[in-house]
Amino acid sequence: MPRNRTNGSARRGAGKAVIASALAGAFLVGGQPMLAGASTTEGTNDTTVAEQHAAHLAELSEQKMLPRITPSVLPVFHDINPTLELTKLVSQAKADADAAAEEAAAQEQAEADEAAAQEQAAAEEAAEQEQAAAQEQAAAEEQAAAEEQAVAEEQAAAEEEAATVTASPEFAKPTEGTFTSGFGARWGTTHYGIDIANSIGTPIVSATDGTVISAGSASGFGQWVRVQADDGTITVYGHIDTYSVSVGQQVQAGEQIATMGNRGQSTGPHLHFEVHVNGQKIDPQPWLSARGIAVQ
Ligand SMILES: [Zn+2]
Repeated sequence: MPRNRTNGSARRGAGKAVIASALAGAFLVGGQPMLAGASTTEGTNDTTVAEQHAAHLAELSEQKMLPRITPSVLPVFHDINPTLELTKLVSQAKADADAAAEEAAAQEQAEADEAAAQEQAAAEEAAEQEQAAAQEQAAAEEQAAAEEQAVAEEQAAAEEEAATVTASPEFAKPTEGTFTSGFGARWGTTHYGIDIANSIGTPIVSATDGTVISAGSASGFGQWVRVQADDGTITVYGHIDTYSVSVGQQVQAGEQIATMGNRGQSTGPHLHFEVHVNGQKIDPQPWLSARGIAVQ
């Protein structure tokens, strides 16, 4: 509002003029009391215009129409413009408030930043812990799986072994070869066993579990091995070339005890095999067949 400001200045200017006039009056009043008093006392009429003006001012002063102003007040009055000062104060206060607000905002921002940084750090730490936990979990699972696998393999091996033991034959085919002669009458006599022909050295195994009761020379058979089973059944292996067991030895069905030969009364390399049950020489073929072993 430039116009108002101009008006304000004008009013202030008028005020200054009044004050100056009042000062002049005060000075004159102070400086001419004797003259005025003398003039009044003497009652003369040759008073000057200045004296009249001073007297008038003194009268005004006496009637409280002019403010009493002491010189010491003046500089202060002139130097300080209350409106300007107030504006400055307001401005300063506003600036202070702005600065404080700015500082507070900056502080708040800094705190927020720090909090965010801490949150970020916490989140990263949590992520790391999560990852570590996941790795630990994975390792534990891997180990558990490995242990499980090992147990499974061990169990499988045990089962296989058990199966092998179970499958371990209770009876065995004494040798491999060609069935050349059966039990019964032959050539005017009785053949008390079966003949299986093959080359010399063909492995001969025990047909049953049992104990070796003969291993060595035998009339007619050249050499033989006899094995007695727990139930008393005796199996005879004749014409053998060699034997690898001794009397009293425990053998298992399927365990090699000798090799095929052509010793004794033999017309070619073969095994003569007999079975004695309760002292009776029986036909080995049905006896083997009853035990799952085919010889033909
Ligand atoms: Zn024979």
